Amino acid sequence: GYRCRSIYKLKEMDETHRIFKQGMTVVDIGAAPGSWSQAAAEKIYRYSDDGMPIFTSPGKIIAVDLLRFTPMEGVTQILGDVTNRIVQMKVIDELKGVKEENDIRKADVVMCDAAPKASGHKSQDHIILIQLIIQLSKFSLQILKPGGTYLFKLWDGSETEKLRKSLQRYFKTVKNVKPPASRDESSEFYVLCQKFKPL
Ligand code: SAM
Repeated sequence: GYRCRSIYKLKEMDETHRIFKQGMTVVDIGAAPGSWSQAAAEKIYRYSDDGMPIFTSPGKIIAVDLLRFTPMEGVTQILGDVTNRIVQMKVIDELKGVKEENDIRKADVVMCDAAPKASGHKSQDHIILIQLIIQLSKFSLQILKPGGTYLFKLWDGSETEKLRKSLQRYFKTVKNVKPPASRDESSEFYVLCQKFKPL
């Protein structure tokens, strides 16, 4: 079974916008309890004839969260706050090719479903999440491959447009997406940035 209902939001977005392909490297932020990593694993790893995933096939998933979750084959967990530089360095270490020391393997997809503790004040929660996303965006621009995808959750508010505008310089398309499975959480939506073009 799946670890969290949130998986359907990601699956719906992947069906419509074709986010994952076999062999990709995916960084999952705010990953606990792990259902987005599960969805990514289903798409990026190859499967044997009896339906078992082949984790030695190309592809990698790096999951970051403040909380530890039940380990999952094919998923490397990093514990900590994604805005912390030390945590970011650990992600970069995991992306590094084993053979060539200085070859940073970059990510095909950075996805973030992180939810800071909500205060219940809409505008305040919006700002707290935007601050996290601004820092994550700087990091994502460092670790994404040209052509890569950046997907993140927002709670709508005053700073949404400014953030979208700043990302439009770096991606061919920046879309707001509201997957049907997200209908309950009213102010929540996702920003899908596709085809990263480094400046
Ligand atoms: N996508 C996940 C899944 O499908 O299993 C659910 C993610 S849950 C809605 C949000 C997660 O964001 C929580 O586990 C929380 O610990 C994490 N989180 C919040 N702030 C964070 C931060 N600064 N760094 C890393 N993780 C964070």
